[in-house]
Amino acid sequence: MATIRFRAIQATFGRTAVPVQETVRRSELFGENVFNEASMRQFMTKEAFVGVMRAIEFGEKIDRRVANQVAAAMKDWALSKGATHYTHWFQPLTGATAEKHDAFFEPIGGGMAIEKFDGGQLVQQEPDASSFPNGGIRNTFEARGYTAWDPTSPAYIYADTLCIPTVFVSYTGEALDNKAPLLRALQAIDVAATDVARYFDKSVTKVTATLGWEQEYFLVDKTLAYSRPDLVQAGRMLLGHVSAKGQQLDDHYFGSIPNRVVNYMRDLEMECMKLGIPVKTRHNEVAPNQFELAPIFEEASLAVDHNSLLMDVMDKTADRHNFKVLFHEKPFAGVNGSGKHNNWSLATNTGVNLLSPGTTPMKNLQFLTFFINTIKAFDQYEELMRASVASATNDHRLGANEAPPAIMSIFIGEQLTKVLEELEDVSNGKLSPQEKTDLKLNVVGKIPEILLDNTDRNRTSSFAFTGNKFEFRAVGSKANCGKPMTLLNTIVAKQLVEFKKEVDALVSKKKLKKDEAIFNVLREYIKSSRRIRFEGDGYSDAWEKEAGRRGLSNHKNTPAALKALISKKSISLFEEMKVLNKVEVKARYEIELEEYTMKLQIEGRVLGDIARNHVIPTAIRYQNVLIENVRGLKEVFGSDFKKVASEQLDLIEDISGHIAEINSKVTAMIDERKKANVIKSAELKAEAYCDRVKPYFDEIRYHCDKLELLVDDELWTLTKYRELLFVK
Ligand code: ADP
Ligand code: MG
Repeated sequence: MATIRFRAIQATFGRTAVPVQETVRRSELFGENVFNEASMRQFMTKEAFVGVMRAIEFGEKIDRRVANQVAAAMKDWALSKGATHYTHWFQPLTGATAEKHDAFFEPIGGGMAIEKFDGGQLVQQEPDASSFPNGGIRNTFEARGYTAWDPTSPAYIYADTLCIPTVFVSYTGEALDNKAPLLRALQAIDVAATDVARYFDKSVTKVTATLGWEQEYFLVDKTLAYSRPDLVQAGRMLLGHVSAKGQQLDDHYFGSIPNRVVNYMRDLEMECMKLGIPVKTRHNEVAPNQFELAPIFEEASLAVDHNSLLMDVMDKTADRHNFKVLFHEKPFAGVNGSGKHNNWSLATNTGVNLLSPGTTPMKNLQFLTFFINTIKAFDQYEELMRASVASATNDHRLGANEAPPAIMSIFIGEQLTKVLEELEDVSNGKLSPQEKTDLKLNVVGKIPEILLDNTDRNRTSSFAFTGNKFEFRAVGSKANCGKPMTLLNTIVAKQLVEFKKEVDALVSKKKLKKDEAIFNVLREYIKSSRRIRFEGDGYSDAWEKEAGRRGLSNHKNTPAALKALISKKSISLFEEMKVLNKVEVKARYEIELEEYTMKLQIEGRVLGDIARNHVIPTAIRYQNVLIENVRGLKEVFGSDFKKVASEQLDLIEDISGHIAEINSKVTAMIDERKKANVIKSAELKAEAYCDRVKPYFDEIRYHCDKLELLVDDELWTLTKYRELLFVK
């Protein structure tokens, strides 16, 4: 009897929605556990408050005396909220978050104790960094790592702990995390975009990148999830036949949210409110038991922190509701996977969204400038954009006939395409008064009207313009969005620097007016980046061929995609924009490859284990039942038995066939793994896992899934698709 599976199913029968008490309005709850401006004003000295605000706005350093004052205020605030511990919270290159809690409590002798937290403890800590991936950085430099307070992201209380967002760097200054490079990229885009925005408005002094992520996830019953060794260890079903009903009826998307799930969402949202994460929308996604959550957008670095924190909150809240959240990009082959769409834009300190068309021709020229420069940047660095979202888990989505393909392209809609086509015809050099008027009235001037009815959506594009922002859809649901955000802001910053140089040169050397120069440069960008724009079906074979002709990359797996990271072009981009140096880039490359290899190694082991220790024994047990039956038939029917036992005999043979295939393929996979494991180079090892180990996964799965269809359901030990996807 398949005990674990049936006990797990039994446990789900009694489940009801876990009650949620909502007594306080969300708006009152919002930011309750955040050391935000309001609480800073209340708890801080004026000097400390001004110091922190200046650090946030202008990146000014906070001296030790002020840091002591800030720490004292933070401690008072945290203790008033019942916190007992504090931690430096950071985002190491594992992609997850890290924290080590220390108590405020400190004995002072004589049997007495106090609560202590000073500037030193606030500003810097030295976690035992040796267990975090560093890609050789710390070995090279024989330096240790430390975490340093990032005042741009407010401290908050989570459970009983004061969490201080930090960056994680080595003593020689190399970034050991995902946060430090992001902050550098945001600095680069601020400078570059401010320079360009000032062509249009001299009062602009700062530009911030904004990010609004959309988080997709699966929610399955906790007990059922834990009954599957593959879900527990690899985060996805390594085998399991798809259920008869999947998403083909389209009855889940935007459908009524099940009771247990709604209560989970409410609980989660309240937690988010307290932590200042401005979550706003929730709905059912395409696949059964798949959902989505999205906030109001925020400044990019805070949004990245919030998304990382959110994933942890989701996990913990799910536990209370007897759910398990699956963040894996493709937990269930055969139904849709999960992504994390990154909506991105640029905002000025004057409150203008630079990717939003305005009401005057000048404002629209500003919009076009940022719009076209983004397209140009994306075109130039499309291969790096692909690399920024590459992972073993996201490989199941990208290039696997699911939104979006592994080919990077931009969708802007028919109307804006027309505008760009018209701008391609702008004359070279000086423009006649007639042409200027025509451009202002008929091309640039028409943009806002156009966008109002520009509601076409293309879900198959990796980078889509959606009216006042770009949406990068290739990001994996599990990923830290810091990585793609670092890259996107870096490439656009680089592009804006180039743009400014070119425009300034036309103005000073060719004596063009500023707007003429801008039109001239934009015209060339539109022409030279034409190949990246695609309005058709991104899933089609025709596009794959066409993209090949256009010279766009199409890397279907992580080892191939990551190579772009260490190209000359990439290293000089990161160095020039002061986001990552060569050592940091190479370290990241190594770490990503190693992570890829390890993920596949784990999957291979788990799959081999399940196939041999669950599937084959179960199949043999059922085969024995059949053999017993045939023996009985032979006794009853004598030499005629083959006529009545023919189906059983076929089944017995089929089962043997599948068992033999599974067994020999598992052996072959293990052999390939052994060969791969002794390869020294991280690159070649990852390739070996990709090309020679991974192909066995599907082959082994195929035969296991066939057996699932043959074997008596009562005997099958592994919880099935239909149970995981439809228990609500
Ligand atoms: P959809 O794309 O599904 O139509 P919305 O347009 O409401 O949904 O936006 C989706 C996401 O885009 C939300 O998370 C929202 O906060 C974010 N978003 C909206 N405007 C901006 C912006 N200017 N910068 C960054 N993100 C934005
Ligand atoms: Mg969207």
